[in-house]
Amino acid sequence: AKGNGKNTFRFYSQEVHEAADWRMKLEGDLRRGIEEGQLVLHYQPKYNIMTNTVTSAEALVRWNHPVYGMIPPNQFIGVAEETGLIVPLERWVIRQACEDMAGICQEGLGLCHVAVNLSQVHFHQEDLVDYIQQACEETGFSPSGLEIEVTESTMMNNQEVVVSKLCSLRELGIQVSMDDFGTGYSSLSSLKTLPINCLKIDRSFIQDVLQDESSEAIVSLIISMAEHLNLNVIAEGVETEQQVELLRQLECREVQGYFYSKPLPLEQLIAFLQRSAGA
Ligand code: C2E
Ligand code: CA
Ligand code: CA
Ligand code: CA
Repeated sequence: AKGNGKNTFRFYSQEVHEAADWRMKLEGDLRRGIEEGQLVLHYQPKYNIMTNTVTSAEALVRWNHPVYGMIPPNQFIGVAEETGLIVPLERWVIRQACEDMAGICQEGLGLCHVAVNLSQVHFHQEDLVDYIQQACEETGFSPSGLEIEVTESTMMNNQEVVVSKLCSLRELGIQVSMDDFGTGYSSLSSLKTLPINCLKIDRSFIQDVLQDESSEAIVSLIISMAEHLNLNVIAEGVETEQQVELLRQLECREVQGYFYSKPLPLEQLIAFLQRSAGA
């Protein structure tokens, strides 16, 4: 048992050593990737199911790594947050999304609205609001076309620093959505006072909405609560026609999900907009 313990220890320390090496390589690669323009944005349309129109598009970052290819955000956002690289990363996202959407808007494709996700770490950056305002100015994109998505847990865990910056952003005309709603712990009273325009119902509830009565009850409750609080509401992760039908019955006007479109590279988003305008 003694020898076994030693081996276990050696194996463990080696594993930790390798994990630390791997993380340092990932951090270095990511820093270089941001500097050398390896980040890519895909855009997922948000869709009004009453009017059948595209209302907005959410910018979702990917990393086109020179060796490993296209890496999804879940595999590098965590390291970016721990190392502070999330700030230059999201600055790039904000700037690129404004530039891309300013272009789409000028093309007259019927869409002048884009949403970006912000990490809680980024709210500790003093000049966040100035940076966003400047990005809008320099790209000629109206702040009223910009939406910030912040998760419910980010808002709840960092109330002071997050809320004060969201208030300043709203003064610029920027909209704020509470992402992954239903998975955090906001109280009814906080919903009344927080500087938000929209609740995004988390995908986990939509996934089960047809099979599970309590999920349907929760979705229905969120929709009517939003209505009473004068907030917009959007269902995310909508994958089937039946889910769309049910959401329509529950009077949820907006949805987002694979049923309408996966996140698309810019050129494919433009083609999607041209098709939906022609339809
Ligand atoms: P999120 O903000 O909740 O974005 C929705 C995620 O669900 C996206 O995954 C999207 O591709 C996926 N999705 C959309 N519709 C469906 C559907 O119908 N079914 C299923 N199964 N999935 C769907 P993605 O692009 O891999 O992004 C994952 C997460 O990475 C995002 O979750 C967000 O938390 C984070 N992320 C992406 N870009 C950024 C960023 O610039 N900053 C920060 N802080 N986080 C980001
Ligand atoms: Ca989001
Ligand atoms: Ca979400
Ligand atoms: Ca999420």
